[in-house]
Amino acid sequence: MSRRYECIVCGRVFPEGQGIVITRAGVTLAFHSKACLAKFFRLMVERLPEKEFKRVAKELIDEYKKMRARQAKSKII
Ligand SMILES: [Zn+2]
Repeated sequence: MSRRYECIVCGRVFPEGQGIVITRAGVTLAFHSKACLAKFFRLMVERLPEKEFKRVAKELIDEYKKMRARQAKSKII
């Protein structure tokens, strides 16, 4: 029997391989849909300490910017 997860936002139960499951530092976050994930992360972003949030957000904005630039270049060729 495959593992089952419960969406922490709406409580829906779903089997392994469906939904989105993120485990880090011994904490498992399970979401049955992207909408539930978005709801949760919006709250998490609001509640993270500003300093930490700023550092990570800037890092990721920069990473995505570089990735987009790479993609744009490869499309031209
Ligand atoms: Zn859900």
